[in-house]
Amino acid sequence: MKLNISDTFNKELPADPNRNNTRRQVFEAGFSYVTPRVPSNPQLVHASDEMIRAIGLKERDKNSKAFLEVFSGTKVMEGTAPYAMCYGGHQFGSWAGQLGDGRAINLAEVVHEDKRWALQLKGAGETPYSRSADGLAVLRSSVREHLCSEAMYHLRVPTTRSLSLMLTGDEVLRDMLYDGNADYEKGAVVCRVAPSFIRFGNFQIFAARRDVKNIRELTDYTIRHFFPTIKEGTKEGYIQFFQEVANRTLDMVIHWQRVGFVHGVMNTDNLSILGLTIDYGPYGWLEGYDDNWTPNTTDKGHRRYRFGHQPSVAYWNLAQLGNALYPLVEEAKPLESILENYKSDFAEKYQIMMRSKLGLKEEVQTDTELIKELENILQVTETDMTIFFRNLSNISNVHQVIDNPDFLAPVKDAFYKPDELNSEIVKAWREWFEKYIKRLSLESSSDEQRQQDMNSVNPKYVLRNYMAQLAIDKANKGDFSLIDELYQMLKEPYAKQPEHEQWFAKRPEWARHKVGCSMLSCSS
Ligand code: AMP
Ligand code: MG
Repeated sequence: MKLNISDTFNKELPADPNRNNTRRQVFEAGFSYVTPRVPSNPQLVHASDEMIRAIGLKERDKNSKAFLEVFSGTKVMEGTAPYAMCYGGHQFGSWAGQLGDGRAINLAEVVHEDKRWALQLKGAGETPYSRSADGLAVLRSSVREHLCSEAMYHLRVPTTRSLSLMLTGDEVLRDMLYDGNADYEKGAVVCRVAPSFIRFGNFQIFAARRDVKNIRELTDYTIRHFFPTIKEGTKEGYIQFFQEVANRTLDMVIHWQRVGFVHGVMNTDNLSILGLTIDYGPYGWLEGYDDNWTPNTTDKGHRRYRFGHQPSVAYWNLAQLGNALYPLVEEAKPLESILENYKSDFAEKYQIMMRSKLGLKEEVQTDTELIKELENILQVTETDMTIFFRNLSNISNVHQVIDNPDFLAPVKDAFYKPDELNSEIVKAWREWFEKYIKRLSLESSSDEQRQQDMNSVNPKYVLRNYMAQLAIDKANKGDFSLIDELYQMLKEPYAKQPEHEQWFAKRPEWARHKVGCSMLSCSS
């Protein structure tokens, strides 16, 4: 196993002079050198063949001793200096001070085919940023992170990736439901991969400490390596940088809304400066379409991070990043106008995205209304979002709605209680479908073409919460086969894959309230 190691990060940002894993406040430094914890009996559960190749390894390397040792944290590679990053963040709207990589350790950066990847272990023990927690992760949350990272990539949602998932052989104490019933679970480590794991919170921590010198260094570093078209060291450059981060964040959230992904913990420390989906914790997928749904039990009261609120939270988070960058720009106006534009850009891009879900290529004035009305009915009829949009593409532009008692047949599978739709709801659906079919007649593409277009934005397979849970239950018993089955299937979420038809189905009733299948806690 041979990796092409580069260490730009370590050379270019100020390091914490105190080299150890002890918990502490770290000032005037972007990161601290740490040593990963040696697991007692590491075992490979699963590896992403694509990421193995992306970082320059061969598939057979995953069975090597070196792979097991490096990606479980057992051995530090020669010529590398693992580190944990310092960041702060707003958690649920309140400034939380220093947070940092409490259980994430960057092993190294590797270069392959002109791409630079940071490799980061999650769950490899305490760091200066672990606060009162243990720095560990459990199998349950690690399976979820590993599978979802890869699934999101194939859905074309910007995301961090996952190379490998290992059991540590150690037990980890967790109070999964926060009800005082703590229990031991299997410990695990995931190796995440991304060009960079820098978050909004990395900028915020320096700003909170009035450390302008380091905000500038971090921003220049980020621009230099990840935004090469922008000029570092200038006010215009910093403004452009903020604009670019806003654009990327907006695009990411639009994708989340398109596929029905709910992040669950959109704290500013969980927003990537590269606009990548990061930190897969108590995330979830919409089953029944519901704007108010959040998978996160910790957020049950206020539902700050509910599905329908994600675009506004991204805006709020960008405003916090804008505050952190203000000392570099010293003018509020340009930053404010970027935030203002976010709102109008969002409205426009959201419409474009929704039109694509409906197979509408032309732009007609009444489309906004058509989309709004659909959202309203979806909200009041318990409808599986994924199945609804996927099956909508089966409708022809001459589909008969008037005088057809079975006009809902093409999308009926998406309803949780298809036989209990009351007459008012059926009437609302009828009106909507009448408008939709009429609207389709303004399109120039054929039914076949439209179906193809719609099927390329409306996935057939997503990582439904209960599917991940089934894979976890098996993995806990030592059977990793379902993890690979789901991994393989989710590589082609838009393809028909008839052999996987069983996963193109509504959540089974047993999963409605089962832990892990509907709501999740942060305790992972
Ligand atoms: P989160 O919002 O779950 O991404 O985490 C918030 C903060 O808590 C971050 O600084 C994490 O690194 C830290 N954290 C979460 N879980 C643990 C853990 N088990 N041990 C140490 N730090 C943790
Ligand atoms: Mg986090």
